[in-house]
Amino acid sequence: MLKLPPGQEPAAGDHRTSVVERGSFASARCSCGWTGPARRARDRARRDARAHTQD
Ligand SMILES: [Zn+2]
Repeated sequence: MLKLPPGQEPAAGDHRTSVVERGSFASARCSCGWTGPARRARDRARRDARAHTQD
């Protein structure tokens, strides 16, 4: 499991997204365990995260 800083522990039904960079790619991640596809643009990853939280 990923260790999160205090105050960012995932809560049930809570979707906290962040963008993680891997080399030249960025992908969205959520506290629920969801991970978006790797994107070349951070903005795209952020859009993936937004689409996920709107589900
Ligand atoms: Zn989620």
